[in-house]
Amino acid sequence: MSIAYISHYACTRHEMGAHHPEQPARLGAINDRLIASGLEMVLHHYDAPQAEREQLLRVHDPEYVDRVFEASPAEGLAWLDGDTAMNPHTLEAALHAAGAAVLAVDLVMEGKAKQAFCAVRPPGHHAERARAMGFCFFNNVAVGAAHALEKYGLERVAIVDFDVHHGNGTEDIFKDDERVLFCSTFQHPFYPNSGHDTGAPNIVNVPLPSRADGATFRQGVLEHWMPAIDAFRPQLVMISAGFDAHIEDDMAHLKLHEFDYSWVTRRLCEMADKHAEGRVVSTLEGGYNLSALARSVAVHIKAFMGDHHH
Ligand SMILES: [Zn+2]
Repeated sequence: MSIAYISHYACTRHEMGAHHPEQPARLGAINDRLIASGLEMVLHHYDAPQAEREQLLRVHDPEYVDRVFEASPAEGLAWLDGDTAMNPHTLEAALHAAGAAVLAVDLVMEGKAKQAFCAVRPPGHHAERARAMGFCFFNNVAVGAAHALEKYGLERVAIVDFDVHHGNGTEDIFKDDERVLFCSTFQHPFYPNSGHDTGAPNIVNVPLPSRADGATFRQGVLEHWMPAIDAFRPQLVMISAGFDAHIEDDMAHLKLHEFDYSWVTRRLCEMADKHAEGRVVSTLEGGYNLSALARSVAVHIKAFMGDHHH
């Protein structure tokens, strides 16, 4: 069964200023690496559609969606948050980024792909029900999860988030929604300074101290994520795949390597094989060192194919 790779040209036209780390070159670096590694040839490529308004409204307030549309500038940058701005192409990119998750869910649910990776930006996991922040506008992974729940009538979707930053937006949207299990590892204390004191039963947060390495990360995953996912028996596993916990990424201070991403991806695929007919949907979040990002995405996708391939 095939692996879907979903992206869109519009995602390279969203830009927040010349020195902003969440830059168009991230997608180019990933694409180049996939071509160089030979992986690109085995993936099934899809253009991301734009998410429809009704799909966004499953996880965002209508007034907020209107606000993002109205903020879209004809020229220059419109800042929605201290580090989050729209250029004239951002709205289109954000709609395709969320739409990628919707298509990814359709492909794995309809059996056209076993796993799907969405190479999109802007990222989504900081976007709350009614707030843009941390480079995010619409919560892509949440839009995909809500689509799986509503369109396919799933009762249990697991979302795991190994970005170095806590997925506060995803938590905000699904907190106390028993149809969704949200598992997150993140550096703490650190931006956005949430997640360490969440009391909701469907949220499994694993804060990691500054300078934590792959061994600490894996221990957190094995002790906290895996038992929770196994007990939850998800019908679909979704991943907020941020690669900014990589040791070479200056955005934060964790010390993960490519093989840690490969390892966690395998563990999640095993859970998906056990409970979800193998269905995995992964969407890009952070990752700002271009080389480390590209290498990490490559091993992440390669791990979908199984242990013997790396
Ligand atoms: Zn991040």
